[in-house]
Amino acid sequence: MEGEEFRRASQEMTDFIINYLDNIRDRRVLPKVEPEYLRPLLPDAAPDTPDTWQDVMKDIERVIMPGITHWHSPQFHAYFPTANSYPSILADMLSGAIGCIGFSWIASPACTELEVVMMDWLGKLIGLPPVFLASSDGPGGGVIQGTASEATLVAMLAAKVKILDEMGEKGKERKLENKTHTLVAYFSEEAHSSVERACMLASVTPRKVRVDGQHALRGDALREAVQEDKKRGLVPFMVVSTMGTTGVCGFDNLREIGEVAQETGLWHHVDAAYAGASLVCEEFRYLADGVELADSFDFNPHKWLLINFDCSAMWLRDARYLVNAFSVDPLYLKHEYQGQIPDYRHWQIPLGRRFRSLKMWFVMRLFGREGLQAHIREQVSLAHQFEELVKSDRRFKVTHPVTLGLVCFRLNADNEVNEELLKKINAAGVIHMVPAKHQDMFYLRFAVCSRLTEERDVVLAWREVAKQADTVMK
Ligand code: PLP
Repeated sequence: MEGEEFRRASQEMTDFIINYLDNIRDRRVLPKVEPEYLRPLLPDAAPDTPDTWQDVMKDIERVIMPGITHWHSPQFHAYFPTANSYPSILADMLSGAIGCIGFSWIASPACTELEVVMMDWLGKLIGLPPVFLASSDGPGGGVIQGTASEATLVAMLAAKVKILDEMGEKGKERKLENKTHTLVAYFSEEAHSSVERACMLASVTPRKVRVDGQHALRGDALREAVQEDKKRGLVPFMVVSTMGTTGVCGFDNLREIGEVAQETGLWHHVDAAYAGASLVCEEFRYLADGVELADSFDFNPHKWLLINFDCSAMWLRDARYLVNAFSVDPLYLKHEYQGQIPDYRHWQIPLGRRFRSLKMWFVMRLFGREGLQAHIREQVSLAHQFEELVKSDRRFKVTHPVTLGLVCFRLNADNEVNEELLKKINAAGVIHMVPAKHQDMFYLRFAVCSRLTEERDVVLAWREVAKQADTVMK
């Protein structure tokens, strides 16, 4: 394909994308296919001679669309949102065309420098303390990771190297012998599974700390756990707190945790994967009270801030720990400006990295602060509309406080009935939701996900829930 053909094909693809998103309500949100549906639709091997663009285009509807779960359908209310916007799609096109691998400054100076500036823009937009920003001239700064899971792992590996270094000879020995299981990382029972996984990958011991009645990890419980472990000869080194838990969108007490972390020498990482986006609105900043005490903070603009996957924004109070933890410096990656500007290969696990800051730049410019705030406020307001509908039906109850875009609810009946309700809702295919369980209580999660969601979609979703409830409550 050369330039002129690309011009025509990209116009056709643009039309397809616009039609797809404009008419996404007409598609069944969950596909109705069985595993291995796709193989019979394709030849056994790649073609010997080129297919035409028209052949490819035709196969999008025939092969791909039947197996798509439409995450951007306003009837999609599962998990948490994943973002999608035209400015972001345009930036990804340009990123694909430039096609650079920005592992060091010299590998594409604009790729590194735009990221440094965009992480500062975004940090200011969400009201992060200046200590996390590169422009504050301290050792802090931001980096784009692929996912929140990666950010937690990267923070954990940096924290691990830091504590081992602080332990001197003993730490060196443990590093050499790979005996790091005496190191303990703390998090709440409500933390995302990726935190436990990070512990497995980092070869450290995970310790789940009990939460209070509001599902929050509190300072006292953390302090108690740390003291107990110290008495047992273990080495507490890190705590991961969650701002916006996956199950109920609960909030750990960042200030108390930060204070205990400072008192006991723990690295404090804040996982705000979903809820971090809400900080663009001043009225939600109270949720991050105490963040200035944290060592690292991460949230996913690719969840709720209109920047397409993947874009997980991570900031560090002192990035030198990260750079020290991951620094390997072969000759072929060296350049003469080393040390003057970040070489992001030292801030992440892979070497290669795409030009992801372009989509941050396009989105922040083309929505502006006010556009991003309007998006978050609208989605929170839609969640509250759904909450009111649930409350208006005496068969149901809202099970957890609705702070942002997630409504947790269930029928006033046992778990089996609620499981049956969700099964019927998803089988009908009008809307899609996933459940969660807390202390043996099964409940349904209604998340406002698509940026296209309107009041009529919330009403439709509620009608569907109520209709299916009629069938299970007979
Ligand atoms: N942390 C929290 C609180 C989450 O809710 C999620 C996913 O929903 C994650 C981490 C994992 O995010 P990612 O897919 O970016 O690793």
